[in-house]
Amino acid sequence: MSSINRERLISTFMELARISSPSWEEGKVIDFIVAYAGNIGVRSKKIPCGKSYNLLLSLKGEAGIDPVLFSGHTDTVTPCMNVKPVRVGNRITSDGTTILGSDDKSAIAMFLEALHVIHEDRLPHGPVEVLLSCAEEIGLNGIKQFDMKHISSKLAFVFDCSGPIGKIIVKAPYHLNMTLTVRGKAAHAGIEPEKGVNAINVLSEIITKIPSGRIDEETTLNIGMISGGRATNIVAEESKCVLEIRSISNKKLKQYEKIVRDTAKNTARTNKAKVSIVSALDYSGFTIRETEPITLILSSSMRKIGVKPEYCISGGGSDTNVFNKSGVRAVNLSCGMQNVHTTSEYISIQDLVRGGELVLAIIDTVYKGLR
Ligand SMILES: [Zn+2]
Repeated sequence: MSSINRERLISTFMELARISSPSWEEGKVIDFIVAYAGNIGVRSKKIPCGKSYNLLLSLKGEAGIDPVLFSGHTDTVTPCMNVKPVRVGNRITSDGTTILGSDDKSAIAMFLEALHVIHEDRLPHGPVEVLLSCAEEIGLNGIKQFDMKHISSKLAFVFDCSGPIGKIIVKAPYHLNMTLTVRGKAAHAGIEPEKGVNAINVLSEIITKIPSGRIDEETTLNIGMISGGRATNIVAEESKCVLEIRSISNKKLKQYEKIVRDTAKNTARTNKAKVSIVSALDYSGFTIRETEPITLILSSSMRKIGVKPEYCISGGGSDTNVFNKSGVRAVNLSCGMQNVHTTSEYISIQDLVRGGELVLAIIDTVYKGLR
């Protein structure tokens, strides 16, 4: 098998890291990728999304082979301006004042390097697509607004999970947000409190009755925000809380949503208050079986590069959730990044190179077929 050009991959990654790309301001990093792709015979298409773009790269391949898609995101979390990547021994870090941005520029560098090797060594391959979403870090914005009609792949390998190469996220939760607004009755707190209904007291009672924290192995519930009242001398007329429920099981998610609703309604009623409840699904969960083609392709590809697959459950969402919801089978893979979303973020050079090898191995496995 052809091999990754280690020094070129490191230099591409460091160049990407130096380009500031906060969410919705990915323009410069996108320009860099478009120019790189143009030099290695890969077509790119910028698809407007908000005030930024989702970027789709495509490489034509041999007819009769299923297309395959790789995905990551172009934005980074703050502090991410003027990142100065530093190579120390076998690691790349930031200078300690910013994040590094290996989340998710390591993935972008791996994709570009693999496509570069294919171009240079004229490797046989099927069609390859690369989708780089924008504003992922602040709510999966790019992918949520992306029309899957732009792509032809039915399998997607998302490279956006921390840890050494080898982790495969095969389960991720559904995520529901709920806002409870309690309306009581205002009254003077000192003169005639008995004429009022304190919305803060009612909400407090609701909250203490709702199970929260880790509910079971696959379900969590968190009361995240609370507000209410206007002054100490007024019996509080309104109070509000926002909570989230996550579960790998959609059935359990619905079950806990009902518990919250029933508890809120019953408690409000007995206190002569009213409650309005708004639920919104943030994203859907997924479960990928170990016998599915996507998992078999991965385990075979990992074997080729000497990596042992480790199947994991995630407690969070990623672009992977949105692909699966849209009918594109997708897994989230670790891409070597460590201590992400902190100024001590780093990536080992070995993982960077292995990630590039994994992209090549997946393209090779899809081309040759499973055996
Ligand atoms: Zn990420």
